[in-house]
Order: sequence, then structure tokens, then C-alpha cells
Amino acid sequence: MDNQDPIIKYFKQTAELFGNELYLNKSKKSNIPIIKKNGKSELDIFNKEICDCDKCALGATRNQFVFGVGDPQANLLLVGEAPGAQEDKLGEPFVGRAGKLLDKMLNAINRGRSKDVYICNVLKCRPPNNRDPLSTEVEQCEPYLLKQIEIIQPKLIVALGRVAGMTLLKIEQPLKEMRGKLHDYFGTPLIVTYHPAALLRNSNFKTAAWEDLKWTKSILEN
Ligand code: URA
Repeated sequence: MDNQDPIIKYFKQTAELFGNELYLNKSKKSNIPIIKKNGKSELDIFNKEICDCDKCALGATRNQFVFGVGDPQANLLLVGEAPGAQEDKLGEPFVGRAGKLLDKMLNAINRGRSKDVYICNVLKCRPPNNRDPLSTEVEQCEPYLLKQIEIIQPKLIVALGRVAGMTLLKIEQPLKEMRGKLHDYFGTPLIVTYHPAALLRNSNFKTAAWEDLKWTKSILEN
């Protein structure tokens, strides 16, 4: 399988995910240079500033602070709720099974975790037993996300899952109410879609997730 021609592999992955519909990318990439300060990106500097955070109790229980990963100039910012066990262990968001699916989905729109995409979470530390973030934790951690957005200046934020959507939008709604709408997150357009873990649990959501992915792509290209 791994020796397979990358083009055949790509088509197989796309078909496996979304059936026989195929979208080709109208490539658009800015030539704006990555902002560097003393050879390090602003994001690296910011990560260093906050990675020992102990503003909430999660600072004492985490293994690793999970700042985020990706292209510091990304047009697309994906935001999950909080790191899980694997992410806490490795220090990178979405590295488990759900993360692998997310990578395949990004690949289907000709993007990747360091190709015009940045991935992070609302909370930078894992809540014990993967419970939902507490409002007090969000209060302490959300300014970090806002600073990341200020640095990256994405064109679009995609909140992954109901909890991320509700936490960012400060509303209590089922996912299906939040989906399909262009929201605003402190001046940046935001849409809410399924968490990839939900797609692994229920493949019936895949058609709607594909619609969201196509919409994401068209927003980014317009
Ligand atoms: N789920 C999330 O919301 N974030 C991760 O980083 C991993 C799983």
C-alpha cells in the first residue's frame, strides 16, 4: 500500500472518504514572507512564552502543552476543543485516529497540516479523562487562541465539533443548528463542522462533512 503511486493513493483515499466526487484546486498562494523575529516565527516565540502556563489546574495534570501545528501563514485555521491522550503525550494536536482522518480530509482539498492549514485547540492542555472544557479553563486559555489568530490572520476558522463551536461562539446549540452558517469570531469568519471523531463513530455524517469541506474550499478560493 505504501509503495503505491501517490496519485492512485490520493484518488483511493478521496473515494474512500467521499465517494466519486472530485474537486480540483484552483491554486492560490500569497507571496507574503513568514514574519521572522531573530530567526524564529512569531508563533514559536509566543509558544515559548506560554508553554509553561499554570493559570488553570490543567497545568498540573498535563504531560505536554499542545500549542498547535502548521503553516504560520495559513488561510485555514482548524480549531478543536482540547488535546486528547495521544496529543497530550506527543505535544501535537489531532495525532490520533481522528487526526489521521482529518489529514485525509485536508488532502482531499489539496491541503495538509503544514500546507495552508494551521491546527490547534481552544484549550492547550488535556482535561482529565477528556471531559469537556470548563468555562473557567476556556476563560484562561481563549486569549492564547486570539493571539494565535492575530499572528496567523486566517481567512477562515473551522471549529471541529459541537463543543469547539459552542465554546467559541458562546452559544448552546446542537451541531446541526451551528452548521451551514457563516459565523463571526472576533472579526474572522467561522464555520462549524463535525469533529473527525464523530465521523469515525457515525459514517452517516460523512456526506454533510464533505459538503462542509467543499464550502470551506470555496470560501478559501473566493
Ligand atoms: N480532539 C480535539 O478536539 N483536539 C485534538 O487535538 C484531538 C482530539
